[in-house]
Amino acid sequence: MTETTLNKSMDELVALCKRRGFIFPASEIYGGINGFWDYGPLGTELKNNLRDAWWNDMVKSPPAGPDGEPISILGVDSSIIQHPRVWEASGHVAGFNDPMVDDMETKKRFRADHLFGLWICDTEQEALATRKSIRDVNFTPPMRTAVASTSGEAWISFVSMKFDKKRRQAEWNEAKKLIVFDRGSSYGFVVQITEQQLSQYLSEIPSPFSQEKGDLTPPRMFNLMFETYIGAIRDDDAKSYLRPETAQGIFLNYKNVLDTMRVKMPFGIAQIGKAFRNEVTPRNFIFRSREFEQMEIEWFCHPDEAKQWYDYWCEVRKNWWFSVGLTGDNIQMREHENDELAHYAKQGCGCFDVEYRFPFTAPGYGELEGVADRTDYDLKQHQEHSGAKLEYFDQEAQVKGKEEGLDKDEINKRSRYLPHVIEPSAGLSRGVLAVLCEAFTPTPERKGSKFVMNFHPRMAPIKAAVFPLVNKDGMPEAGRKLYDKLRTKYAVQFDVKQSIGKRYARMDEAGTPYCFTIDSDTLSDQTVTWRERDTAEQGRINIEQVGQFLADKIGV
Ligand code: ATP
Repeated sequence: MTETTLNKSMDELVALCKRRGFIFPASEIYGGINGFWDYGPLGTELKNNLRDAWWNDMVKSPPAGPDGEPISILGVDSSIIQHPRVWEASGHVAGFNDPMVDDMETKKRFRADHLFGLWICDTEQEALATRKSIRDVNFTPPMRTAVASTSGEAWISFVSMKFDKKRRQAEWNEAKKLIVFDRGSSYGFVVQITEQQLSQYLSEIPSPFSQEKGDLTPPRMFNLMFETYIGAIRDDDAKSYLRPETAQGIFLNYKNVLDTMRVKMPFGIAQIGKAFRNEVTPRNFIFRSREFEQMEIEWFCHPDEAKQWYDYWCEVRKNWWFSVGLTGDNIQMREHENDELAHYAKQGCGCFDVEYRFPFTAPGYGELEGVADRTDYDLKQHQEHSGAKLEYFDQEAQVKGKEEGLDKDEINKRSRYLPHVIEPSAGLSRGVLAVLCEAFTPTPERKGSKFVMNFHPRMAPIKAAVFPLVNKDGMPEAGRKLYDKLRTKYAVQFDVKQSIGKRYARMDEAGTPYCFTIDSDTLSDQTVTWRERDTAEQGRINIEQVGQFLADKIGV
């Protein structure tokens, strides 16, 4: 596996994804639709492999708990559209907003917190001093502005990358040092324009699109939920929403699961499914799209045990990403700063992100998964808004408390409570992107293939290919026999067309770990050539041993 995602070109990866049938722009023949993507045959297999790995490792065969005992996680599959009051209770109607600004001239829209300004000064000293005063006290509107996501110029994308507000503090400081740059006779620097500065100096700040002053609207809160209407009449009473997260479907079924499945606290409920967010600026391929998939667990536990489970899930979830092929420093854990906390986590509770070093964030990182302590926020909200009792009653704890002679309050506290919830919430689509980025390896030295996708065997959409060297002399028949045998167990391709070099190159880009080639010797000595994807190494084995060889090598 590759050590780093630095220096990988997203343009080349996106082109490969299209060329090889991983991911296509949605509605492509109509010019595409911003923020939506379709998965092709290989992308669908890859996504299913990642999804199945998560479901297997978290639900069917979850890890042992901190005490070494098995933990219990159950799956649900809830509706995408729920009662509209669900989203009032969850806080999404009131709080799931991004500040948004429109350019009235070009009709372009962007997030206020993605706005950066370029100041030009005569000397480096002046640039440094001005930059300091802008951050500390004075704000003089910039010469030019740029939105993080829509820049064409190299310096802007460099700056935007450095100034993503979610960068780690150390990198942030480092970036601030780097940002004064020399442009021949002038010195420039770029800083993020705050929402407050934007509102105050609105008429003085040039639009990032027209570069004209006075074109921008004040920042307005924009709700990210997609609205829809239920039934024939389109009025406010019929309004509902496409779910912006899968989590709420779990909270709504918490009591059902508890009542039907004989589970005891602590336990988890898991769900994988689509979520929809009307993102103001979808970008970076499938990293931020408007329709995407999530893999979420809500882990219910006694409030006193929440911290212990929070630490446990941070560790488990970080390690899981290594098991699907992400490596080394490309993964890091980062604790949220206070101003980033989601509306449910504002009560001093933590949120850790598992982050991945994507090529477009490198050397920084982007969120792959959030592990949040949601406290009893959601259950409490649903209890209040719906009137349903969602408290947990632990009869064993009550009996034990009585036996131990505890007072009534203590017994009550231990046996009757609203559970706290630890939520590991991972992006399946973002996970697919991380797996693609990690696997994507340019191979300029290799003849034939320009790129190899060195997927972890568990993720590889095709596990092996069988190639008759030529389409005659009994080779296709021998190959077909081998293919029929292997495909009972694995996703295998059989291909007789084109030169063998081209067929290997295609499988390298598809990320197929092994190819087996039938040639004239096969017919006389029953051996075939095996070729390994990452090294292009080749060897020969008996055709009867191919199944075992493959099982040993890929281990799945
Ligand atoms: P971000 O800060 O990137 O907008 P978030 O903190 O709002 O993400 P969560 O609400 O915690 O994200 O969602 C959990 C996971 O869902 C994220 O870690 C990410 O993997 C995935 N996710 C969220 N929004 C998107 C999106 N627009 N496109 C693809 N995946 C997403």
